[in-house]
Amino acid sequence: METVALRGGSWLFDEVADADVFTPEKLTEEHRLIAKTTEEFINSEVLPHLDRMESKDWEFSRQLIKRAGELGLLGLAAPEQYGGLDLDKKSALVVVEKVSRAASFATTYGGQSNLCVLPITLFGTAEQKSAYLPRLITGEIVGAYALSESGSGSDALAARTRATKQADGSWSLTGEKMWISNGGFADLFIVFAKVDGEQFTAFLVERAFPGVSTGKEEHKMGLHGSSTTPVVLLDARVPAGNVLGEIGRGHKVALNTLNYGRFSLGAMCAGGSKAAVGDAARYAAGRKQFGQPIAIFGAIKHKLGEMTARAYAAECLSYRTAGLIDAALEASAKDGASIAKAFEEFAIEASICKVACTETLDFVLDENVQIHGGNGFVRDYMAERYFRDARVNRIFEGTNEINRLLIPGMLVRRGLKGDLPLVQAARRLQDEILSPGSRSADDGDAPLAPEQRTVTAFKQVALMVVGTALQTYGDTLESQQEVLSCAADILIETYAGESALSRARQSRAAATANAGLHETATRVYVHDAAARVEASAKTALAAMAEGDTLRTLLAALRRVLKPAPVNTVALRRELAEAVTARGGYIL
Ligand SMILES: Cc1cc2nc3c(=O)[nH]c(=O)nc-3n(C[C@H](O)[C@H](O)[C@H](O)COP(=O)(O)OP(=O)(O)OC[C@H]3O[C@@H](n4cnc5c(N)ncnc54)[C@H](O)[C@@H]3O)c2cc1C
Repeated sequence: METVALRGGSWLFDEVADADVFTPEKLTEEHRLIAKTTEEFINSEVLPHLDRMESKDWEFSRQLIKRAGELGLLGLAAPEQYGGLDLDKKSALVVVEKVSRAASFATTYGGQSNLCVLPITLFGTAEQKSAYLPRLITGEIVGAYALSESGSGSDALAARTRATKQADGSWSLTGEKMWISNGGFADLFIVFAKVDGEQFTAFLVERAFPGVSTGKEEHKMGLHGSSTTPVVLLDARVPAGNVLGEIGRGHKVALNTLNYGRFSLGAMCAGGSKAAVGDAARYAAGRKQFGQPIAIFGAIKHKLGEMTARAYAAECLSYRTAGLIDAALEASAKDGASIAKAFEEFAIEASICKVACTETLDFVLDENVQIHGGNGFVRDYMAERYFRDARVNRIFEGTNEINRLLIPGMLVRRGLKGDLPLVQAARRLQDEILSPGSRSADDGDAPLAPEQRTVTAFKQVALMVVGTALQTYGDTLESQQEVLSCAADILIETYAGESALSRARQSRAAATANAGLHETATRVYVHDAAARVEASAKTALAAMAEGDTLRTLLAALRRVLKPAPVNTVALRRELAEAVTARGGYIL
């Protein structure tokens, strides 16, 4: 039985035990079977029909949701008594990785399973669950999540949709929700409105209720096969029994849904990143210029190698996060409140997953277009569609700016509450690293030892930046967004680098066939992450200190962060040649 550190954010303070880091190699046969079933479904029933979906044939989208229901994909984690499979989050991860290939359908799927089945499972009464879950899980009805409004996106709690209690106990809702995925054909909406303009509350609103309608489809940059419309509520009549959760506690429903949704979106993007490496590698192997496949050119190898290393880090951190959430779920009671608490515990990691993987996907897809040259810019090739479809991932489920602010924000809040040893660790570190004689320990040249030292240094740099920020700004830290965003970037690189390192070490220990490639990807990632960490730290420190104090801090930064020199050109070539030979992602 593995022991997993069940505190979100604790990895910043502790040495990670490899046994506690979940990796794809630890998937069970059941997980692999679920992944295979999903892949076959996407390959044979969804991808061949993307144009049909993009023509906004919503009846077809409904059929696909129904098929996903028949395959058991809509209620993976939902209770068996309502038709769900009661499976772990690793199962959900392997499904979204495969669904990611069809981004429009992935949005439809996510709207149903993550944004509708999940909040009803967590917060619904027994009657609500019986009324809606079985039909959502079979795909008989389609769900949607209506939080945003034209004036309240990031600031979702500022919604203006109003709920007024009627004499018979029912509710009248009036307002307009905006950009609602599945809006054009959903049967059920989870709508957030303020009771008497004040108490933010979630309601289960059926399309068939009087006063409910949806507006015109948005003309979007991408995801043309996903419906996005306003939801209009004009004195919409909602029965008394359709309040989801408690009146005035709608933020709990909204935020807990997002805590999980961010992890899931991240995992989906990690899956998309791996697939894009394959697209790029196959194209580069087949496309000839100057009499040679472009895959043999160093500039293209550099891209393929970097894409692989980044996709690897994204994959490692999303699997690790699934493992953490599952461990918390295993240790918790099975009621909705306990499950929501487990998601909340790993909200920092979920936000990291969202930011890191959505940005990895955009990077990888941008390079995929570049490797496709002119063909990457025309619609005949998937590279163009993937690129457009991915852009919104950095915007929805909390923009990446908002998630960046949340990452150090949550860490600091937990530190000040005493749930994490942030203050003590930052103080201890300051005593250690600000003394000029100090230097980081050197534990020899064992494989991956330099990368381990570098990741340990990332943790020290993160503590140095967050600790200095706390000291400098105290209660006003929240308003220092640039510094917080730099801190977030350092924390993201730390979690990503450590996740990759742990998996590479585990592959070596298990002597897996491609353990060497795991090490190569890790060395590239960690080495280059050091430069990014250094740049973020310098920017943050220079905003907080000046003169001799700044010079002392920068000297400490140089002492702590000394990545061993690595020939990443050769290492990227090794990765590029492996993905080209395989015609796909190799790890
Ligand atoms: C295709 C699509 C599908 C969607 N599906 C759904 C859905 O199903 N349900 C739903 O409820 N919503 C949905 N949305 C809405 C989406 O969640 C919002 O667009 C998103 O939350 C951002 O809100 P906004 O567009 O109002 O941007 P704004 O909040 O106006 O943000 C604009 C910019 O300002 C930044 N910003 C805002 N506030 C701050 C701050 N405090 N500090 C620093 N920077 C800040 C943002 O990061 C962003 O860069 C969807 C959107 C799209 C495009």
